[in-house]
Amino acid sequence: MAMDERLMAMTATMKATGAAKMLGIAKRMVATDPDVSGRDVLARLESAMAEEEAAATVAWVASEPDRADCIKCGGPVETDSRDRSRWIHSADGSRGCRAATFTVEDGWDETIPKSWNAAPKRSV
Ligand SMILES: [Zn+2]
Repeated sequence: MAMDERLMAMTATMKATGAAKMLGIAKRMVATDPDVSGRDVLARLESAMAEEEAAATVAWVASEPDRADCIKCGGPVETDSRDRSRWIHSADGSRGCRAATFTVEDGWDETIPKSWNAAPKRSV
């Protein structure tokens, strides 16, 4: 799958923001103490980076979707990262079971009603 252009631009922006934050820490340390050692600046930057990485890991784990099998069509479903109360089919991100089970070879599964939407089977 091709990388999303907007996502790549957002990632570049976040990297630039992170670099500016680290630069700000170093500048403030030097402004506060012009004789601060390179080792002290490095230690503070390493500490700040470790804090950033820990926060990112927590956010990443928390953003992991809930997963289950669809109670209607049986396919794998997961919570939508844009709305955790909504369930989508993992295969294609669709709500509808008909869309999720469509294949180029076999087309639409006519036994699946158009009204069926992704919903979790909780007892899995
Ligand atoms: Zn389904």
